[in-house]
Amino acid sequence: MKIKNITGSSKVSAKPKHFASWLQFWEHFAGQTLTRDKYWICPACGESILGSNFDGCHVQKVDSTDQKWYIVPLCDACNHRTDEPNVNVTLVSVADNNK
Ligand SMILES: [Zn+2]
Repeated sequence: MKIKNITGSSKVSAKPKHFASWLQFWEHFAGQTLTRDKYWICPACGESILGSNFDGCHVQKVDSTDQKWYIVPLCDACNHRTDEPNVNVTLVSVADNNK
């Protein structure tokens, strides 16, 4: 799945309602936990990254009619990428924030 970061999403999207961070939001709905003191493979760059360096990033699908916003866990560097990486990871819809 090709994705792109939504630029400026930190300005337009406050923290999720029921979670301390968008990463925790993703963990809840994806049913996975990125333990902060363990290393995880970033789904965008493939690097082994410490869990505490992941962010819940706002992304959109590329080449899709689906324009919804999703959260995916990416490393801090990939959170600021402007290209369109391929990721193999669960996308959690930002709309779940209103449940
Ligand atoms: Zn990365």
